[in-house]
Amino acid sequence: MLILSKENILNLKKHPIVIAIDGTSASGKSTNSKLVAKALGYVYVDTGAMYRTFAWYCVQKHVDIHDDKAVAAACRKWKTSLECVEKNHLRVVHLLVEGYFPEKEIRTAEASAATSLIAAVPKVRDWMKKTQRDCIQFGNLVMEGRDIGTNVFPETDYKFYLDAKLEERSARRAADGVNENLAARDQRDSQRAAAPLMIALGAKVIDNSKMTSAETSGLLIAEIQKLFTANK
Ligand code: C5P
Repeated sequence: MLILSKENILNLKKHPIVIAIDGTSASGKSTNSKLVAKALGYVYVDTGAMYRTFAWYCVQKHVDIHDDKAVAAACRKWKTSLECVEKNHLRVVHLLVEGYFPEKEIRTAEASAATSLIAAVPKVRDWMKKTQRDCIQFGNLVMEGRDIGTNVFPETDYKFYLDAKLEERSARRAADGVNENLAARDQRDSQRAAAPLMIALGAKVIDNSKMTSAETSGLLIAEIQKLFTANK
């Protein structure tokens, strides 16, 4: 368990800190980001959920997700708000659409496939970046995604990249009851022109193929603690 010194706490109060956790699909970003956020008392932000929410919105509104112009137009129109709620002793940011958080609807394999299409549209990424940066209003953040260290908060000193072997990641998704082609999604995420999935300069890369989430989050927390000390 991380114990912050008084000095560190004072320093954190002055400038909100962002811990950026990027990585491939099913590499354990959500589980570990939540564990780290809980240990630090930081607010957890799942940026994938924001992209999924927009994909769900497009499908609901019958927007052609293969038409970039139509997708960009929908992004200009949708009415959203951010809220920070406490859930299982963790503060979490939700993106609401007209006051509604589509928690369950955004988790299907169909939603995942639609999401990596709309996520490639530059206007959507601009909107997401601005909205994700606005989350700093809630305090220190653990933010997970694909481009947090490279694009959303490139200025942060706290950058991590999680990965695991494809077989291991596919097995994790299957255990959650979701059967999807992760390799295809990773390929789309890595090959798009706008803010592709890549390892940020200076990011600590963790391959957790053979690690439990307790081990992965323990390593993340130990690395963050080292960085806090170095940045004092
Ligand atoms: O993390 P999650 O699997 O929920 O993300 C769903 C999809 O959202 C990703 O496959 C990717 O296409 C997109 N995404 C993104 N940039 C982020 C977070 C997610 O492009 N920062």
